[in-house]
Amino acid sequence: MGLRPNLLTRRTAGVASTTLALLLSTAAVGVVPAASAFSAAPGEVCVEPADVHSDARMKPGGGAKHEPNELTLAETREREADLAAALRERARFRAGAGATTMAATVTIPVVVHVIQENSTRAGGNIPDSMINSQISVLNQSFSGATGGASTAFSFQLQTINRVTNPSWYPIVQGSSAERSMKNSLRTGGKNTLNIYLGELSDSLLGWATFPTRKLNSMDGVVVLSESLPGGTATNYNQGDTGTHEVGHWLNLYHTFQGGCSGSGDSVSDTAAEASPAYQCPTGRDTCTAPGTDPITNFMDYTYDSCMYQFTAGQASRMLTAWNAYRAA
Ligand SMILES: [Zn+2]
Repeated sequence: MGLRPNLLTRRTAGVASTTLALLLSTAAVGVVPAASAFSAAPGEVCVEPADVHSDARMKPGGGAKHEPNELTLAETREREADLAAALRERARFRAGAGATTMAATVTIPVVVHVIQENSTRAGGNIPDSMINSQISVLNQSFSGATGGASTAFSFQLQTINRVTNPSWYPIVQGSSAERSMKNSLRTGGKNTLNIYLGELSDSLLGWATFPTRKLNSMDGVVVLSESLPGGTATNYNQGDTGTHEVGHWLNLYHTFQGGCSGSGDSVSDTAAEASPAYQCPTGRDTCTAPGTDPITNFMDYTYDSCMYQFTAGQASRMLTAWNAYRAA
């Protein structure tokens, strides 16, 4: 456990990375990311890579050794045990306080930090309109308006904080600069979603921390600024990287977590999936268990145009995690 981030990484060069990453692919054909993994020690990060050419990442078996970040079975068990412990802790607290209500609907305050190298668009200076569109995408995705289950969550933008600091650009996952950036900028309590936007290291699309019982300054999500609606990240510029990362921030695993065996992603209504899906492979069915792969789920690695839903089980898991970890 530890603090290993879960990143989505890119598998391209064989670099292993740690974490879960969504990859962006620039290639028309080949595509995307690959990696999968998250590691999730309680509290860590999920990263998604961007920009990869793909074929390499899709070779069966080729990615496994490069995905140290996928959460191991032991890591997911540890996180699940922590969730159970957090729920018990909350129940005791509520009983002691004479309160029994658990939140059923939640409005999440959002603080957006735009990390820029300079004042140019190439240097990270994206317009407010893209950020407002991203908040709209989150609200649509989490409300079920795009075709999925309705969740308890809505998002309200509080502040756009623009920061010009070349030493934080690009944002390098797991670096001391990332830690310094977050220590300096993170605001709000456990319920506040801090989103850091910028150019990212290693072709990543984004990464996120899972919730923890004790708030730490690394808490939040990091998203490639050009993945926002209107951005330049081809096939990944409809804002679904933001949705995916916020899913992790609310305790969701990837749909392919655990592969075909065991409890998978700990959600019963997402069909088991052996590995990440890229692009939009309709009909893909990688496990003998019932159901085709959940390629349209926000927690897979497909193109933004392919993914549009959370399931009722994921909605329930996120609300449970909210009440365990992030509710006041
Ligand atoms: Zn992810």
